[in-house]
Amino acid sequence: EAIDYYALREAPVRNIVPVPARGLIEISNVSKFFGKHKALDDVSLTLQPGTVTVILGPSGSGKSTLLRAINHLERVDEGFIRIDGDYVGYRRKGDKLYELKENAILRQRINVGYVFQNFNLFPHLTVLENIIEAPVVHGIYSRAQAKEVAYQLLDTVGLRHKADAYPRHLSGGQQQRIAIARALALNPKVILFDEPTSALDPELVGEVLDVIKGLADLGVTLVVVTHEIGFAREAADQIVFMVDGQIVEQGNARQVLNHPQHHRTINFLNKVL
Ligand code: ADP
Ligand code: MG
Repeated sequence: EAIDYYALREAPVRNIVPVPARGLIEISNVSKFFGKHKALDDVSLTLQPGTVTVILGPSGSGKSTLLRAINHLERVDEGFIRIDGDYVGYRRKGDKLYELKENAILRQRINVGYVFQNFNLFPHLTVLENIIEAPVVHGIYSRAQAKEVAYQLLDTVGLRHKADAYPRHLSGGQQQRIAIARALALNPKVILFDEPTSALDPELVGEVLDVIKGLADLGVTLVVVTHEIGFAREAADQIVFMVDGQIVEQGNARQVLNHPQHHRTINFLNKVL
């Protein structure tokens, strides 16, 4: 049975230029277990629309699990997450929450863009086809509209001349910029980046961070897990530091980077700075 995603979206697409969307994300007392291991431990965090939140923390601290929970790739065991008031994975009926069916979860995922460490472009599709695939499949744009949008997004990431290339012919930095354009094509309410430059050669990191900073300037709501402290200092409205599934420190860049309070934050920053 075909799902009419277009009709289900909260706001109709007014024109075919993707408008950077701003979502309010509320994470409220979220815990997540893998067996007995508590990967997220009572995490609460609010992301204001149009802001950049950078998540720092050692390996295994729960950063990826938190991003995956926002996109309902992991179901939370306690607490809830809302995007513009919409419960991720649940709906409220009276004063109870009910789990959504798979179709409804897929529909929610359209509101969340996700950029992976390893780009995850479709290898058998050209750059242009990679970008138009999801919007066309989800019925957000016609093929012709999606192409027009894709070319504009390629301008945004500076790669219009690569529209007909295949991913294997692009550098890692270029592939990641295409992955960002692809995430934008669904006009999501938030874009989540999970260590977007960790797989890149050092000389390619800057071009990707510059594209992400450009999105921040456009007012897109961003969450970025990264070890790039310079980027965090420049671009973050809010920095969150996680250890063992908990947020141990949170504040603006100056507070967290210049005046860390928690001993784990101090140790971590001493290592990466
Ligand atoms: P980070 O991204 O900060 O490195 P993760 O969110 O990937 O940390 O992992 C947090 C903890 O949860 C780690 O101890 C990890 O081993 C565990 N974990 C993550 N995903 C799974 C899973 N699917 N099954 C079991 N344990 C997991
Ligand atoms: Mg991770």
